[in-house]
Amino acid sequence: TTFKDLKVSAPILAALDTLGYKTPTPIQAQAIPEVLKGKDLLGCAQTGTGKTAAFAIPILQLLNNTKPQGQKRGTIRALILTPTRELAIQIDESFQEYGENLKLKHAVIFGGVNQFSQVNQIKAGVDILVATPGRLLDLMNQKVLSIHQIEIFVLDEADRMLDMGFIHDVKRVLQVIPQNRQTLFFSATMPKAIQSLADSILHNPVKVEV
Ligand code: AMP
Repeated sequence: TTFKDLKVSAPILAALDTLGYKTPTPIQAQAIPEVLKGKDLLGCAQTGTGKTAAFAIPILQLLNNTKPQGQKRGTIRALILTPTRELAIQIDESFQEYGENLKLKHAVIFGGVNQFSQVNQIKAGVDILVATPGRLLDLMNQKVLSIHQIEIFVLDEADRMLDMGFIHDVKRVLQVIPQNRQTLFFSATMPKAIQSLADSILHNPVKVEV
């Protein structure tokens, strides 16, 4: 299989070529076509399997193919929630790399640093926001950003999110985002609590295990 076989679009193929990605990893081969069809996804995968590209590539392509509808300029269209600053920065860099030839804007927010430059970036307009839960809720409370109109929601490393005590933050986010969004759910392990969280937020998900 090639990325082209997975129906990845030309500008993204060119970016992957520059990065030296030759073949999709198993999770990419399974996930990319399904996410492109608009399906919800339950991915059981560790870091190192290529899971970031498995969601970042189709998200870039979906957003690039559709215009935001009836929304004011600067509305966030995709939200990626991840437990740590390090993961958030890595994911944001991946959107930069794979989206190199597209005009979509992305930003990353996390706690433990001054919010000033993060706020300025958001005010300038962001299509794709990568966030850790605490800073996201903080900026939502300050009305710096709104996630009421997101089209795609990614919950990354759900098991770690629970272990780190972020479950209430995650539930608050889920209360605010639209019901009819597309949801991509990733976890390295699937204990009962994670499985029931997945069941409660996914609609007919495609299951991918690697
Ligand atoms: P991840 O599991 O998303 O943290 O990705 C692990 C590493 O594999 C990252 O450094 C990616 O840049 C790299 N990677 C992801 N997909 C591919 C691919 N199809 N070919 C080569 N490298 C890749």
